[in-house]
Amino acid sequence: MKSFTYERPGTPAEAAAAVARTPNAKFIAGGTNLLDLMKLQIETPTHLVDVNGLGLDRIEATPEGGLRVGALVRNTDLAADARVRKDYGVLSRALLAGASGQLRNKATTAGNLLQRTRCPYFYDTAQACNKRQPGSGCSALDGVSRQLAVIGASEACIATHPGDMAVAMRVLDATVETVNAAGTQRSIPMAEFHRLPGDRPEVDTTLKIGELITAVTLPKPLGGKHIYRKVRDRASYAYALVSVAAVVQPDGTGRVAIGAVAHKPWRVEAAEADLPRGAKAVTERMLAGAKPTHDNAYKLKLAERTLGAALIEARA
Ligand SMILES: Cc1cc2nc3c(=O)[nH]c(=O)nc-3n(C[C@H](O)[C@H](O)[C@H](O)COP(=O)(O)OP(=O)(O)OC[C@H]3O[C@@H](n4cnc5c(N)ncnc54)[C@H](O)[C@@H]3O)c2cc1C
Ligand code: SF4
Repeated sequence: MKSFTYERPGTPAEAAAAVARTPNAKFIAGGTNLLDLMKLQIETPTHLVDVNGLGLDRIEATPEGGLRVGALVRNTDLAADARVRKDYGVLSRALLAGASGQLRNKATTAGNLLQRTRCPYFYDTAQACNKRQPGSGCSALDGVSRQLAVIGASEACIATHPGDMAVAMRVLDATVETVNAAGTQRSIPMAEFHRLPGDRPEVDTTLKIGELITAVTLPKPLGGKHIYRKVRDRASYAYALVSVAAVVQPDGTGRVAIGAVAHKPWRVEAAEADLPRGAKAVTERMLAGAKPTHDNAYKLKLAERTLGAALIEARA
């Protein structure tokens, strides 16, 4: 690991200012992703700004009837919150499908949203990777790409967003709240938070340098049945090959997002009109234009079957 300096600011705006004024500085929360990347020298920040003491660890009701989840709320606490379990079951289930109990005790809401891809070539510093080193090429294009994207990818990068929580937050239409060095606050809809890679795969989200996530706001509850299904190589402690977050109403209408198929949680609202017609109709519309690699066309059928299983569960 390269040497770095460290500070613990007192307020969110001070934290944002510390990152904004220091070249190559990073926030650190639970550290479960960042420290791994630092040990491998994939991330080499010169300065760490610890956001754990900023008082952003509460879950509060909003005047609109939703919930405001502080950026530092641990994944374990969010999944276990009685209001989340009752009204946002898809989120609780997605969180519990991720990582391990120990990791979830450390991992935070903001850190989870910002976890980096699990493309094997991103982690192998002997390989070309445009996300790790812009302009170096993409080893995955002709390599092992069974875990990687089938839609929304580019010639520069076919990585996926690997997380579970963000897929549920996308189906719930959550909003990411931020503050910058000047103290200016901003609300970013989840639909616009993660980016597609295009020709800038090194940029995962629409956050600006020094912009600190303070909270994620969930709108008022949707009702319906909340389902999260994750298909992976092992029954636990493994990333998704495909996941489905669904909220289904008694009349068969609802919402769906698919995880592990793109650089961002994948939701196509227009396709949700087809939910009463079944999984095939919906996934055909959601994944229209997909360009799987030689290695991962199976994800198209897997997405259909995983949604099919979710819809059966919704009717049960
Ligand atoms: C072995 C293993 C298995 C895992 N399996 C899964 C899984 O199955 N599913 C899943 O979803 N995840 C999985 N994870 C990932 C895990 O969920 C993430 O590592 C964790 O959520 C990151 O949160 P953190 O608080 O530790 O982030 P950190 O590592 O502290 O930070 C991550 C990034 O977020 C930035 N950041 C942190 N807080 C803020 C903030 N408030 N504002 C702006 N930027 C911020 C940091 O600068 C950094 O870039 C796994 C991790 C490991 C190590
Ligand atoms: S898919 Fe993206 S992350 Fe993976 S090697 Fe290519 S550029 Fe890097």
